[in-house]
Amino acid sequence: MIVPSSWLEADALWCALWALADDYAVEWGVERPERDVTASPLDGFNPEANIEAVWFVTEMLVKYVQASVPDVFSRVQGAIRAVQYVSAMQTALARYPSDDAPQKAHFVRCRACKQMTLRRRPPLEYQDPIVVECTNEECGELWDPRLVDFDLKILRTSIVEAAAERARAVKERVRAESRARIKAAKAVVRAAEKAADALAEEASTNEERRNA
Ligand SMILES: [Zn+2]
Repeated sequence: MIVPSSWLEADALWCALWALADDYAVEWGVERPERDVTASPLDGFNPEANIEAVWFVTEMLVKYVQASVPDVFSRVQGAIRAVQYVSAMQTALARYPSDDAPQKAHFVRCRACKQMTLRRRPPLEYQDPIVVECTNEECGELWDPRLVDFDLKILRTSIVEAAAERARAVKERVRAESRARIKAAKAVVRAAEKAADALAEEASTNEERRNA
């Protein structure tokens, strides 16, 4: 089984938080944090654990630490662990943003109000759907992202077709211009030939006249 790097990161973070909580308990001689089969202080979460179990033990540990935050910092070992944990947490948050910002859906119009006001809204809670919402206050319609992707695909196809059509038109114009240029060049040649013939004719008439 290939373990996603985000899982390994979560394991490391949980272990760091556990170390902080446990060292605090030892340093202050208070009751140690509660444990559960879902996570071990050495390897982090049990790979078989589902998201609800992971959520439960994490919340339990976070509550334990939150309840004693001033004390955790006020002794050396706890302070060292806290700095390590916060630094690891900041790295993880930068690497795995936990909530996406809503993003404007570019190029597509709302099917209801025909405005370019669509925005992709990320899930607000676990297992929430991703929806596309219209930010036009008078509309506010919600759309299935697949519908918006479908509209985008149609738009993309029409753009590609229009580009191909334009390329065809340009090619046709170039061909017509080149035909016109050849025609004009031929006309010039014909006119020059005619002039040459006329001159030759005149010359021979003059010659005949002189001989007569
Ligand atoms: Zn709308």
